[in-house]
Amino acid sequence: MRSYTAFRAEREQHTTTCTQEVLAFLEVIKQQSHLNAFLHVDAASALQQAEESDQRFNAGTQRVAEGMVVALKDNISFKGMPLTCGSKILEGFEPVYDATVAKRLREAGAIIIGKANCDEFAMGSSNENSAYGPALHPLDNSRVPGGSSGGSAVAVAAGMAHVSLGSDTGGSIRQPAAFCGVFGFKPSYGRISRYGLVAFASSLDQIGPFAHSIEDVALVTDVISGSDDADSTCAQRPPTQSVSALKHHDSSTTIGILDDSLLEGCSAEVWNRYRQCLDLIHSLGHQTKVVRLPGREAWIPTYYILTSAEASANLARFDGVRFGKRVGDADEDIMIATRSRGFGAEVQRRIMLGTFVLSSGYYDAYYKKGQQARRLVADGYDEIFSQCSALFLPTTPTVAFRRGEKVSDPIAMYLNDLLTVSAPLAGIPAISIPAGVDSQGLPIGMQLQTARYADEELLSLSRQFHSVMSA
Ligand code: GLN
Repeated sequence: MRSYTAFRAEREQHTTTCTQEVLAFLEVIKQQSHLNAFLHVDAASALQQAEESDQRFNAGTQRVAEGMVVALKDNISFKGMPLTCGSKILEGFEPVYDATVAKRLREAGAIIIGKANCDEFAMGSSNENSAYGPALHPLDNSRVPGGSSGGSAVAVAAGMAHVSLGSDTGGSIRQPAAFCGVFGFKPSYGRISRYGLVAFASSLDQIGPFAHSIEDVALVTDVISGSDDADSTCAQRPPTQSVSALKHHDSSTTIGILDDSLLEGCSAEVWNRYRQCLDLIHSLGHQTKVVRLPGREAWIPTYYILTSAEASANLARFDGVRFGKRVGDADEDIMIATRSRGFGAEVQRRIMLGTFVLSSGYYDAYYKKGQQARRLVADGYDEIFSQCSALFLPTTPTVAFRRGEKVSDPIAMYLNDLLTVSAPLAGIPAISIPAGVDSQGLPIGMQLQTARYADEELLSLSRQFHSVMSA
């Protein structure tokens, strides 16, 4: 599978064209349609965008991401393509504006090929909550590709686009990246505008890329990051300079690692691979230091209490009046009928949980306590990053699990997020790096996290780690 960076080098040499590249991707999308990676593909528009890009390359006016073929998770708005969030409630909805990330990619010359499948409103860890059917794992179709950005991960892993964008609230970029064997990066909260991303839990949601190479991750991040007047939660910071940061040679440093208790939920294969990777990190000249992240038993409950609370508020706007599908005709009936039929079981579960924890009698016991626990997670990370440059941990406790294995047990599904929820709770950047395969050939991902806004350092260290972990 070829990265955008590799394609670009060939395109600069005029040994291939953007049109040929798009045609090749469209062919894979057709051949592999059973993977259900896309909810919408616009072949005609992609070919037209490719022609413009070829003209630019021929004229020598190519832009920084010229001809980069991108799939967008279907909770990111792009004019001219439907926006469903994997939900029936938005069936037939056409957005009227572009998300900032989509606009910036287009302005840099990227080609948007289509919208990728995802769990409904980004709630899930397996893509089985999509109202349009699950996306399948490309290497073993009986397994899940992870979620909620499962389609975005499959699109890159199976060679249907150079890169894709997903959103990560509790692991939805990193977990599917780990399952599918590609890079998945969740930048610091506030690095990337959320304008045009349909909100799940606004104080955690972050857009980020999937890619085959760290160079592609860096390039996409540089293109889409930076302050945005349309999103007041976006930090007043310039775009990242990750591509140039990758060229710096990293000096040896101290990397935080987990004590065995945090690895208890991990399978033997993931655990062993983690241990092997620690040796590889030492071989790079880094030191490792065992660190503690306190209150780990509270991470999953804290994450699900806070995100469900925010989701219940954010999803109130889908009332059958303003967007998408409408069921029924008398006033109150419309709302009840539309929401009952339009939202799937998982979304309804979260709305109910969120409404409960925000209700006046329980607010202090759950929501307020959740906020306090969140503070402790952030403080714990501050302490770690005062001693170490980065924290190294597995992305997921296991490799890709089988479809149907956890659907009837929400708690088992939620536990899959054990190692990914703490980074968004603290707002710090985190990446999943491909780190080899298990005995069955299924990918394993390792995670690297740094202090908030140290995104460039994170990517630069990731390049180094990947060079030994993929060998
Ligand atoms: N699996 C987590 C959840 O279901 C993460 C979702 C996400 O990051 N969007 O909430």
